[in-house]
Amino acid sequence: MRSGRNPKAFDKTPLLDLTYIQLTGLLTSWGEPAYRADQIWRWLYRSLVTDFREMTTLPKGLRVRLAEATLLRTMKPLEEQRAADGLTRKVLFALRDNQTIESVLMHYERRHTACISTQVGCPFGCVFCATGQSGFVRNLTAGEIVEQVLFFARFLQAKGEGLTNVVFMGMGEPLANYEAAWQAIETLTHDEGFNLGTRRITISTVGLVPGIRRLAGEGAQIGLAISLHAPTDELRDKLVPINRRYPLTQLMAACRHYVERTGRRISFEYALMYGINDSLEQARQLAQLLDGLLCHVNLIPLNPVPESPYQPSPRGRILAFQAELNRSKVSNTLRVERGTDIQAGCGQLRCQRMPKE
Ligand code: SAH
Ligand code: SF4
Repeated sequence: MRSGRNPKAFDKTPLLDLTYIQLTGLLTSWGEPAYRADQIWRWLYRSLVTDFREMTTLPKGLRVRLAEATLLRTMKPLEEQRAADGLTRKVLFALRDNQTIESVLMHYERRHTACISTQVGCPFGCVFCATGQSGFVRNLTAGEIVEQVLFFARFLQAKGEGLTNVVFMGMGEPLANYEAAWQAIETLTHDEGFNLGTRRITISTVGLVPGIRRLAGEGAQIGLAISLHAPTDELRDKLVPINRRYPLTQLMAACRHYVERTGRRISFEYALMYGINDSLEQARQLAQLLDGLLCHVNLIPLNPVPESPYQPSPRGRILAFQAELNRSKVSNTLRVERGTDIQAGCGQLRCQRMPKE
């Protein structure tokens, strides 16, 4: 067993893993009135307390019992890095089993966005992505997903500010960990607690068709981003191997279904790789693929990943690609990448500390 692991902690129930109904059930099994669940829920998700002693509306005996039987926090920040622009902050967390994940907080003019992970590693192995290169270890629990958000919310609270948006764009594939991701969303949007609007949440997926259809069926206004990166099956099969299982015709049909059900515009992520997916012909193919769909393309200059054979497109090619999309009236933005100096950009998150240079 590695040092630092506390076997006792494994007997305790992580409170953030419980749904509101499960928390109520636990408390009633202890002979507590149901309204205690409301109180605790508010302490957790509104006041963002980190210690049971702060739950001052609870009787002391209940606070002690909670501390004995449950855990308020399960993750430890090991390392925090701030990008030179001061607008991006990356945190490496140690989980209870000593696995590690990374999460990012991004500040914009009127928004504070948490970019959170849903898995330790990722099973999909997209060739240009650092997370994909480290393989898959395990799914995160709902509580571990929520706890990343609360960590940043506390940080902002201390400065008199609040978290405004959550994007599931960190490590892992949210729709491959559907139950936990969905439970985390229900917790974060619960109106007696954290009360985040569903429209302020975006899930990014590599294109898991059954997951997209299931999410459409929830009837919630969650933003959906698709990691597309290629306009044809031939190329996407190479860059995003899961495309062989869910090719573009199936993926686009699921996207159209999502738009019909939610009325929300879908985002397509397209990381521009030099000589691979950045030609004018490919821009035209992309426009054709997306024709008639309520959508927006995020052009991302590829972030360098050491293991990846691909290079970022030069600026001139990026602008030419964008101009071609504009000509075809495809709504798009060229994303200004953040935090690449601390490896916090899209696709740069991984499970370990980076070796110091
Ligand atoms: N697994 C999900 C969620 C991760 S989001 C998904 O793939 O959508 C991470 C985003 O960064 C995805 O859009 C991914 O395709 C993109 N990405 C991965 N590697 C990248 C890189 N080297 N440069 C730019 N974007 C990258
Ligand atoms: Fe996984 Fe997404 Fe990276 Fe692909 S891009 S390896 S699905 S995290």
